[in-house]
Amino acid sequence: MPFYDSHSLFLYALFFVPGLALGIWAQIKLSLAYGKYSRVPVDSGLTGAQAAREILDRSGLTNVPVEEVPGHLTDHYDPTKRALFLSSGNFHGQTVAAVGVAAHEAGHALQHQAAYGLFQARMALVPITQFASTAYAALLFLGWFMGFIKIALPIIIVTFACITLFQLVTLPVEFDASNRAKEQLVRLGLVHEHERAGVSKVLDAAALTYVAALVSSILTLLYYITLARDSRR
Ligand SMILES: [Zn+2]
Repeated sequence: MPFYDSHSLFLYALFFVPGLALGIWAQIKLSLAYGKYSRVPVDSGLTGAQAAREILDRSGLTNVPVEEVPGHLTDHYDPTKRALFLSSGNFHGQTVAAVGVAAHEAGHALQHQAAYGLFQARMALVPITQFASTAYAALLFLGWFMGFIKIALPIIIVTFACITLFQLVTLPVEFDASNRAKEQLVRLGLVHEHERAGVSKVLDAAALTYVAALVSSILTLLYYITLARDSRR
C-alpha cells in the first residue's frame, strides 16, 4: 500500500484498519462455528462426500465428480472442470459442518446447471480479475519502489475496481449457493430439523468472510481514490 507522508499514513490506517478488524472477526467466527459443528455428528451418518453425491445425483448431475483435495477448508466447485472438490475433513467427515459445506459446494454446481445469471457473470469476470490482480500487484510494487506511484494511481484504481467488482458479484453467488444447500438438505432429508441451525451457523459464518473481504476492498478502493484526489491538489 502506498503512503508517502504522515497524512496518507493516517488515511491508510483510517481506511485499512476497519476492514482488517472485520476480516479477523469473520475468520474467528468461522473457525468457532466450523470447529463446533465439525464435532457434531449428523444423524444420517452421511459423509460430506456422500451428501454432495446425493444432492448432485438427485438433480441429474451424475456426471459431476466429487473429489478429495488436501488442505483445510479448500472446498470448491470448479466450473471449468465441472467437478466438486472437498477438503479431506469435509470429504470424510460425518458431521453437521462437513455435510453443510459439501452441500454448499453442490449448490454452486446447481447454479451452474441452472445457468444462474450472477454465477455466469462471476465466471466471465475470472480472466479479467486475474489480469487486473497481476497488473495491480505489479504497479503497486514497482510504483512504490521506483517512485511513480502517483502517476500510476489512476490505473491502480481501475485494476482494484475490477477486483472489487468481482468480490461484489461473488457475494450474492455465495449466499445463493448456501440457500440452495439448505433447501436441498431439508428436501432430501439429509439433515434433520434440529441440525438445520448448525448448518446455517457454519454457512452464514463462511458468508461473513466474503462480506468482510468486500468491505475491506471497498475501503481500500476509497483510500486510493482519496489519495488520487489529494495528490491533484
Ligand atoms: Zn461458495
